[in-house]
Amino acid sequence: MKILNRIFSCAMAFLFTAGAAAQELTYSPTGSRFDIETLPGAKAVTLRIYNDGIGGKPVKIIKLKANPTGGDNLLWQTLVKGDLKGKFYTFDVKYDKKWQGETPGVFATAVGVNGRRGAVIDMNATNPDGWLQDVRPDIAPKDLVLYELHHRDFSIDCSGGFKYPGKFLALSEPRAIEHLKRLGVNAVHILPSFDYASIDETNLAANKYNWGYDPLNYNVPEGGYSTDPYNPVTRIREFKLMVQALHRAGIKVILDVVYNHTYSVDGSPFQKVMPNEFYRLNADGSYSNGSGCGNETASEHEVMRRFMVESVKYWVNEYHIDGFRFDLMGVHDIETMNLIRRELNAIDPAIYVYGEGWSAGTCAYPHDKLAMKAATDQMPGIAAFSDDIRDALRGPFSDDTKPAFLAGIKGHEQSIMFGIVGGVQHPQVNIKSVNYSDHFWCLQPTQLISYVSCHDDMCLVDRLKASIPGITTDELIRLDLLAQTAVFTSQGVPFMLSGEEMLRDKKGVHNSFESPDSINHLDWNNLELYPQVMSYYSGLIDIRKKHPAFHMGSAELVRNNLEFLPQQDCLVAFHIKGGLRLQGVSENWGDIYVALNANKRPVTITVPDGDYTVVVRNIKADERGIATIRGGQVTVPAQSALIFHN
Ligand code: CA
Repeated sequence: MKILNRIFSCAMAFLFTAGAAAQELTYSPTGSRFDIETLPGAKAVTLRIYNDGIGGKPVKIIKLKANPTGGDNLLWQTLVKGDLKGKFYTFDVKYDKKWQGETPGVFATAVGVNGRRGAVIDMNATNPDGWLQDVRPDIAPKDLVLYELHHRDFSIDCSGGFKYPGKFLALSEPRAIEHLKRLGVNAVHILPSFDYASIDETNLAANKYNWGYDPLNYNVPEGGYSTDPYNPVTRIREFKLMVQALHRAGIKVILDVVYNHTYSVDGSPFQKVMPNEFYRLNADGSYSNGSGCGNETASEHEVMRRFMVESVKYWVNEYHIDGFRFDLMGVHDIETMNLIRRELNAIDPAIYVYGEGWSAGTCAYPHDKLAMKAATDQMPGIAAFSDDIRDALRGPFSDDTKPAFLAGIKGHEQSIMFGIVGGVQHPQVNIKSVNYSDHFWCLQPTQLISYVSCHDDMCLVDRLKASIPGITTDELIRLDLLAQTAVFTSQGVPFMLSGEEMLRDKKGVHNSFESPDSINHLDWNNLELYPQVMSYYSGLIDIRKKHPAFHMGSAELVRNNLEFLPQQDCLVAFHIKGGLRLQGVSENWGDIYVALNANKRPVTITVPDGDYTVVVRNIKADERGIATIRGGQVTVPAQSALIFHN
């Protein structure tokens, strides 16, 4: 070891810094360096080299040597001479007298099938042509329009006509790009796309489905979405091809990250390398279960905090990722989330960070230190989903049959207004009447994710059917479009579930995390069946994107320029004042009026006299205008939105 250290001391010196090493493998054609950090109590570490990612006996077994990390932990290292490209490896760590079992390590960046072994590859060989010229699209957080999709939902059905159904590559196909561009979204948020455990990559022909919230190797793309999970280069290259194609189309790529728990404790690389160090334990020594999945990680522990920071930076640097959606962000601590924000700011402040500001159970950490929605105002530059506007529109999470605003039930107006202003303090919003919030938790409107549906719970069509018995197709479409008009005229960042634009349904399934494709897939025939829906969504998004009045990005501007009209039951109507140009907002419309009417009858609002251009009415949305009207008493049609401007 000492001799090897001396030989490679120059090239490898950087790896010997204290607390180094997210990187556990450093490949070069002349030798590969392995470094793995353990707790101080580790007695031995074995490295095994294999010819294949699964099966077979090791071709080499090496005992690693321990060096201090500079902290309390040990850094176990070796350098294997020769070109190991194409080989696979595992670590096995011994604590007391027990070997913990083989693992690719906690920071594998390439793996074999099912993520059992790390893979030695030349990362440069994974880059598609032109990758080094790939840049993140220049879109500020306030201008984002988010589209949440699952790879399989989006492209698996033959109606989509994809060459690579259910794969990363589907998103690089013209069919996908053209659809996304026509719709107008400028960021796709992809459900877990790191290597997860619940799909057997050796049997993809079984066509099993899972959302993927069961992390195995956090820093490697999932094999099931590649065309060849056995070849460790393929999934990485295809992921990059996807990112590159989307970037070329001006669309950002946001990764859904699930650092809050692992698939299991015993099988987790974390546990095999540093037993219990990555997890929160209860006082009785059992695993705390704030994730609802059997365990919860401990972001306040130095190793987990460092892991999260290094992991997001790795995805940004290696894969050019544009943002992160933190699953159950409320399991993580505020300090870690702020650290992540600072580290990302140093790379690119436009990298967007948002998350679920809740946990799924009680966490073994003080509640006031957790990154809950209510603490968003302690995390500048980080956003949280607003269940306030979501449930005000459609009804509560806990009961799919319980309706709200969309069903013409009064009392939800203030919660919708809270969402419309992007969760910032506003003199006309009475916070005491807002669903689940007791204070304005956003410092800036870009800290609120405005939405009515996501992969969780019922999609919008199913929810409307479940909560409004006997709903007609005509009513369903009107209310669907009304709901999204609230979302897309919010000063928060709008977010939609993939397929809503084609009136998707999931046959009433509330939690479709492992439902078959027949439940989860998009049926692309719906685009022809319901062309008015896609047309309205794209028209609405076009209006939003062309008019900064709808995404001012500043709490001060929102407070000064957005005022609500007198309240009526089941109606939310507001006025965005003309003159924004004088305040530095490049808005070419004057006064803008938006009315959201959930009543089953038309209602009247009063606006100043004058001529106005209508851009949204009934089931039509067109930025160029669809009619002109006179001011004074203006009628808002039943169960729909009206937007007009002068
Ligand atoms: Ca996997």
